[in-house]
Amino acid sequence: MQLKLHIVTIEDLMPQKHFLRKVESVLDLSFIQAETSHLYSRRYGRPPIDPVVLVKYLLVGYLYGIPSERQIEQRIQTDVALRWYLGLDLFDAVPDHSTISQLRRKPSFRKVFRRVFEEVVRQCIAADLASGRLVGTDSTHVKASASRASEELVEMPEEPGAYWERLDTYEEQGLQELEKRIGRRRKKRSKQIKRDNRRTHKRVSRTDPEAGHMKRPGKPEGQYYLSHQTVDCDHGVILGVTVTPGDVHDSVPYLDHLEEIHRNILPIQAATADAAYDFPLAHGVLEEDGIFFYVRPQPTADRTEVTFKRDAFAYDREKDVYHCPSGQQLRVKGLYRSASGVYWEYWAERSACRPCPLRASCLSKNDKRGARKLLDSYFRPAVRRDLARQDEPEYLDALRKRQIWCEGTFAAQKWGHRLTRILRRGLEAAEDHCLLSATAWNLKRMIKCMK
Ligand code: SF4
Repeated sequence: MQLKLHIVTIEDLMPQKHFLRKVESVLDLSFIQAETSHLYSRRYGRPPIDPVVLVKYLLVGYLYGIPSERQIEQRIQTDVALRWYLGLDLFDAVPDHSTISQLRRKPSFRKVFRRVFEEVVRQCIAADLASGRLVGTDSTHVKASASRASEELVEMPEEPGAYWERLDTYEEQGLQELEKRIGRRRKKRSKQIKRDNRRTHKRVSRTDPEAGHMKRPGKPEGQYYLSHQTVDCDHGVILGVTVTPGDVHDSVPYLDHLEEIHRNILPIQAATADAAYDFPLAHGVLEEDGIFFYVRPQPTADRTEVTFKRDAFAYDREKDVYHCPSGQQLRVKGLYRSASGVYWEYWAERSACRPCPLRASCLSKNDKRGARKLLDSYFRPAVRRDLARQDEPEYLDALRKRQIWCEGTFAAQKWGHRLTRILRRGLEAAEDHCLLSATAWNLKRMIKCMK
């Protein structure tokens, strides 16, 4: 065996064009020290692990798809480039994985991960890698560390929907409009809105009660979290991440998530999404916010049991009335509020329906009012304006870009940035996980596009 003695530094061993050199040059994490200084005592205890080292330690796990802190520690011990990035010399001790696991759990430390994500997004925007011209939103399921064997059916207290308050506002607005249209105001609702029974019983796992039992066609069934991401369609920079339990519908966090980006991160000009986001409130709110909405239309099915379905009635936009098959008019007479929306009620006159020869095909057997009613979403004008453009090339192009950037980004994150499963438990831990995965992705996009 031939042994040679070399005098080298870790700086000499680090290749000049190494990916981590680029990461270090674009991402200055020194702000973490200032933001976490109040969490450390200067007088008591052992010298702490530098919080910047902690964040870098975790970040390399997502940049290189290393699945656990234990394995990250092992990689840092033998990988010169990782040691260089963390600021460790060749023979410095690597922080123990269990210490890192404990530290990242501290609630006071958690907001640091969001701050790092926001800082990377800010730098991407400053480098013109995101413009807000078109953003796409989608969600993906991330497996929770929750046992299905410990699932139990739990009766949950009724919770108002996420957009309940928004609907209350629109309901009030609608009542004022109704007063102008028909000259009288409907009495204030005395009954509570009908409860949504589907969510009163929930399958909860005792090992992670904050995860949600996901059951969707074409998706695996079990305990999952959902990572909702909005991606800028210029270069694929992720602008926002929201995490919910796996049994929450995609439409629930959508508007708050998008408006948070629009108001605090980057003004959005147009948004695109798949059919799960095609709900009337979204069309109404985004139009008010000045955001074009390119959404894949939701297939609709008329489940009424009568022969004359909705499309048998012709709408007259000028007069704002529907014409029924026997030529009678259905006019706005009320406003209906349900758990999921606000609707105009169009009624035919009872005096016209009573002698009508088509009555058997038009009214259901259980009809008690003796007149035909149609419900129209309060947001229908906005829905109509958006969907009228669905065959235009710009609209189709936006849907195509959503597929490329949203689904492509999720696929890459699952493959290389640990977005398949979460090893820790609880919604906050899941959010940290998804944020770090998105940060790693954005860093790679930034370095690739700034070459
Ligand atoms: S039952 Fe009433 S709404 Fe239906 S076709 Fe006859 S008149 Fe028109």
